[in-house]
Amino acid sequence: MAQSIERFRPTYQARSVASIDFEALREKGLSKLLLDVDGTITQICKMVVPEEIAQNLRAAQDNGWEICLTSNAQLWLMARRIEKLAEALECQYVAHYWPHPTKPNPRALEIAMSEMDGATLDNTLMVGDQFGTDILGANHLGIPSIWVPSIEPIPLWKRITLEVINQRRLQALGEITEAPTRVY
Ligand SMILES: [Mg+2]
Repeated sequence: MAQSIERFRPTYQARSVASIDFEALREKGLSKLLLDVDGTITQICKMVVPEEIAQNLRAAQDNGWEICLTSNAQLWLMARRIEKLAEALECQYVAHYWPHPTKPNPRALEIAMSEMDGATLDNTLMVGDQFGTDILGANHLGIPSIWVPSIEPIPLWKRITLEVINQRRLQALGEITEAPTRVY
């Protein structure tokens, strides 16, 4: 058991996408960002990206980062929301839904990587709030990852289902290295 929890270990954790120092990560050779949507850059199922997050993503793009949203949309209809968010952020996107591979299937992340010119296992970073999809998928694929806590408020249906498991995994992982943090 103690060994299997390591499958969920992110390379780093951060307080928020807004606090990640993408410039410092670029110096480590990373420049392609696979970015989860729900709970990571928006409240779950909402359309609004908080300004401090949008601003940090724009700064990353100005610094040469390319971004692809990667979201398990479940249904084709829900994919439209991801498309609209990608338009607003001026980035690529892939909405994963049945019968296509979904996270944590590493194939889903490979498909998202193929949306970014020159994305390789060496220059791509995954950022997300779910250990069981985002971080596990990144570890399957062999790319670094940053876990961020879900943006509040987390709806009740999520709290009584997936969030319980997510929080249990966070506790089981213990110490996680902090990602390079942006100083405002
Ligand atoms: Mg999420």
